Amino acid sequence: MYSLELRDVVKRYSSGGEPVVALDHVDFAVSPGEFVAVVGPSGSGKSTLLNVLGLLDDPTDGQRLLNGTDVTNLSVAERTTARKESIGFVFQDFHLLPTLSAVENVALPTAFDPGDARDRAASLLDRFGLGDRLDHGPSELSGGQKQRVAIARSLINDPAVLLADEPTGNLDTETGSAILAEFERVKSEGVAVVAVTHDPLVEEYADRVVELTDGVVVGGVPAEADADVGGPGDDGVDDARRIRRSTASGDR
Ligand code: ADP
Repeated sequence: MYSLELRDVVKRYSSGGEPVVALDHVDFAVSPGEFVAVVGPSGSGKSTLLNVLGLLDDPTDGQRLLNGTDVTNLSVAERTTARKESIGFVFQDFHLLPTLSAVENVALPTAFDPGDARDRAASLLDRFGLGDRLDHGPSELSGGQKQRVAIARSLINDPAVLLADEPTGNLDTETGSAILAEFERVKSEGVAVVAVTHDPLVEEYADRVVELTDGVVVGGVPAEADADVGGPGDDGVDDARRIRRSTASGDR
C-alpha cells in the first residue's frame, strides 16, 4: 500500500483572468520508506503538488489516498486531523515562531500533554544534535540548526509522510548533506519522504525523481507498482510519460 497516492488528479485555478491547469491528470505515489524528489521548472506545479499531497489544498478532480484511505473530500475538521496525525511539513523558510525556544517550537504541533511533549521534543532535538540548544530562540540558531528544528518539529507526531519544500535551499553543501542524512534516517524508519527541490544533491539522495512540466508529471508512480498492483498507468499513459521524460528539457 502506498503512503500517499494521487490518481488522475487535476488542479485548476480560476481566480483572476485565464484559468490555469496547475496539475494536469497527475498520477503520483510514494511508498513507506521511499524518498521522492520532485523537480521541474518554475511554474510547473511543484508547490501545487505539495499542497495537494499535504491536504493543504484539494484537487479539482481525481482521487487522493492516504495510507489507502480516500481523503479526496474531507471536512475541514477531518482534514486537519488527518494532517496532524499523518503528515509532517518542512517549509522552505522553516516557519519557526521567533518568540519560542527550539524545544517549544518542536513541541508546538503535538497532541501530547505538555510534559510529555517537551520530553519528546527534547529527545528529537537531541537526536538531531541540538540537545544543547533546547532553550535557544531561532535568532540564536544558524540556518542549518533552524532547518533541523523544523525537521524535528515535522516528526513530533510520528507522521507517515514527510513533505519538504526546498529542504536544502539556502544551506551550504555540508549542512545540506547533514539534512539529507537525517532524511535517510527518517526514511529508514518507514516514513515516506517527498521533497520539492532544485538541488542536484537532493536528486542524488532520492530513490526516485519525479519531474513536472506544465502540470504533467513524469515518473509519478513507482515502476514496479504498475506491474504488481495495476492501478494508474495500466492504460499506457505512464509509459508515454516516461518516454517524454527522456526527451524533456526543463530548466531545472
Ligand atoms: P511551481 O511550484 O513549480 O513554481 P506552482 O505550483 O506554484 O508551480 O504553480 C503552477 C501554476 O499554477 C502556475 O501557472 C501558477 O501561476 C498557478 N498558480 C499557483 N497557485 C495559484 C493560485 N493560488 N491561483 C491562481 N494560479 C495559481
